[in-house]
Amino acid sequence: MSRLAHSYLEEFDFKEPVILLAEEITAALIAEVPRERIAGIVSLQGSGNSIAAILARNLNIPTLIGVDIPLQKLDRHLFIVDGIRKELLVDPTAGVLTEYQGMILDNEKNSKILLEEQFLPADTEDGVHINVNLNAGLSFDEKEQSILPLIDGVGLYRTEIEFMMHKNFPTELEECRHYEEVLKNFAEKKVVMRTMDVGGDKPLPYLPMNELNPFLGWRGIRVSLDKPNLLLAQFRAMLKANRKYENLSIMLPMISSLDEVLAAKKLLDQAYNEICEEYSTVIDYPKIGAMIEVPAVLFILEDLAPHVDFFSIGSNDLTQYTLAVDRNNPKVSKLYDSFQPSMLRAFYRIFRICDKEIHRPISVCGEVAGDPLGALMLISIGYRELSMNYTSVPLVKYILRHVNMSELQEVFAKAIKLQDAIEIRNLYRDYANKKGLLSMIK
Ligand code: PEP
Ligand code: MG
Repeated sequence: MSRLAHSYLEEFDFKEPVILLAEEITAALIAEVPRERIAGIVSLQGSGNSIAAILARNLNIPTLIGVDIPLQKLDRHLFIVDGIRKELLVDPTAGVLTEYQGMILDNEKNSKILLEEQFLPADTEDGVHINVNLNAGLSFDEKEQSILPLIDGVGLYRTEIEFMMHKNFPTELEECRHYEEVLKNFAEKKVVMRTMDVGGDKPLPYLPMNELNPFLGWRGIRVSLDKPNLLLAQFRAMLKANRKYENLSIMLPMISSLDEVLAAKKLLDQAYNEICEEYSTVIDYPKIGAMIEVPAVLFILEDLAPHVDFFSIGSNDLTQYTLAVDRNNPKVSKLYDSFQPSMLRAFYRIFRICDKEIHRPISVCGEVAGDPLGALMLISIGYRELSMNYTSVPLVKYILRHVNMSELQEVFAKAIKLQDAIEIRNLYRDYANKKGLLSMIK
């Protein structure tokens, strides 16, 4: 357990809302505190792209990650955690408190506007529909269910979170019950379940991984293929769970070569045959997809295409590996930018190949898809399927409904010629401003 500035977590009764301040706030730590009691999060380690930050965003908690502050001196003071301006205000004056109360009211007004439109389809002004999917598995309450009428499906279900919550590997039966629950919650909608993606900043307490470079090490599909019985059990559990709901697709994380896809598919075939035999019936064979997170995949898309049904870009990792910037390291977080020209061109290249050459559906499920300007950038390239966190859905839908695709294509034609991330982002920001959307975006 991470050490908080004041004491260990169990000493708190959480009667009052608290700001969690720690050397390092982890996803597991956040999960242990009742959501309604967390007013803010401040972590010295990590960055806005770490899994803890993604979880905090998903839960709509103001968060500062990777800040340089004297932790020990801050206990039991009054704070404002400004997650928008990325500022921590200690013992704010009455004037500052009033200013923030005004900002909270403005925010509430904006939220009301979003809520009024949230059930409308994500169609641009000129009638182009964008599929808006949910990144699920990070929410510890049932909120995700209330989002059902707003989304087209689940574009990413992070199965590793369930593994992280256990004290030991769950049994196949436990896994199956859990997946059944998920497929049932989203019945009638497509659910893309990703096989266990541990490693990096998602350690499993019961699977020691002491590595110097965990993001370049034993992660995702590499762990699963080294422990084939685990992957086989996961496939079996998914297939069994899907018998009733038939809405499952499976996605493989951290793919970097054709071998990995073929090895995983061999195990999926085995699981499929076993389940058909055990139940003496022919079950649904799920669609299988590969994540594009490792730049190597950009150069083997044509080789992978005959063996997968779809691709999905994990832009959190694709940005990290393309730019060689640790997504967790606050010292280099300024360099981590999905608007870099190299990233824009990577997104463009992937879209073009999937759309024109290999004819495979392509979506984006990294954080860039849930960022309003990121979403504009992606749809201007041609992407029509975005998957994002719970809290991003109403905002991104609103933004998509108030832009014009042919205008955005003109923005893209300019953006692709630029050589600077700030200029590229500003093009999309200027366009959002022209459409009167900036006050929503912040
Ligand atoms: C990604 O890398 O963009 C992604 C969706 O996976 P995760 O953030 O869980 O690594
Ligand atoms: Mg990833």
